[in-house]
Amino acid sequence: MKSTLLQAVTLSLAAACASYACASVPVGIVIHGGAGTIDRSQMTEAQQKNYEATLADAVNKGYELLAAGGSSLDAVTLAVTVLEDSPLFNAGKGAVYNWDETHELDAAIMTGQDRNAGAVASVTNVKNPILLARAVMEQSAHVMLTGAGAEQFAAAQQLELVENNYFNTEFRYEALKRAKESQQALPHQAALMPDPNWKMGTVGAVAIDSAGNLAAATSTGGMTAKRWGRVGDVPVIGAGNFADNSSCAVSGTGHGEYFIRYNVASDICARVKYQGKTAAVAANEVISELLTVGGTGGVIVVDTKGELSWAFNTPGMYRAKRNHAGIVVEIFSSQSEKTGN
Ligand code: ASP
Repeated sequence: MKSTLLQAVTLSLAAACASYACASVPVGIVIHGGAGTIDRSQMTEAQQKNYEATLADAVNKGYELLAAGGSSLDAVTLAVTVLEDSPLFNAGKGAVYNWDETHELDAAIMTGQDRNAGAVASVTNVKNPILLARAVMEQSAHVMLTGAGAEQFAAAQQLELVENNYFNTEFRYEALKRAKESQQALPHQAALMPDPNWKMGTVGAVAIDSAGNLAAATSTGGMTAKRWGRVGDVPVIGAGNFADNSSCAVSGTGHGEYFIRYNVASDICARVKYQGKTAAVAANEVISELLTVGGTGGVIVVDTKGELSWAFNTPGMYRAKRNHAGIVVEIFSSQSEKTGN
């Protein structure tokens, strides 16, 4: 009797762990708060501490949820909402301004075990766009909703709605004014070069849970001074956000037009899956190659073994990771190798 029960438990565990290494995988989470020209000399000690404290808060909340047996989906959702609620980052409160001096937000979420995904683009009144992306994934028959329709769905889902000016911050408005002065015409997408002083600040999280499931979540206000209903890489599944239990989970930040054209997030996972590369090597390759065509930015990655990595080709990337080995919070590139794991 006892051995039958044991066999049944073993069998169901084996079934649950069929597509990934299960019990031996340590839980872990990596987050980012954007990559860009993050100059140590331009940042006061107090500002640096503020960024580090918010990153630590987000990564700790996600990790604690994972350590208590929570899912990677819940962990990335929680970490991203913490960052969306902070005015420091270009997502939710603190989102950049578009050319018309308002805010249009993009977000995406994906789960690795079933490659289910939800994304929203150009939403103007949803306090936490990542919650709307998750609702699209879990409560709708669709993958991507945009603009007024997405907002109608948000209201139906009883998500918290705000006035567009909730997202306002003085320093983002100053960035818009500088951007408008420096680029009056945008003849071609590749001409939209980020002002060297632009602070990117898209936020994202990738995680692996105790069941071995991967998840990725990313949220952004897009790029300063964007025009004409521009949609960036974040809601384009495989460009700025991707998760697949057979390879890795990725969240990106940077010049979205390049991330879309080079399919950055899924390219990293494809190199892991088909070329047998480690996630850290694949991420570094793709981010280095991106720079050769002018695309600036970075990614965070978690693979099926629980390795936590990042790669970026900018002077800095707000980032943090936590697993059984402890917590790491970094901002500038000189703090570590450009690819960390
Ligand atoms: N990738 C975002 C976009 O292009 C911007 C960023 O990461 O800062 O919309």
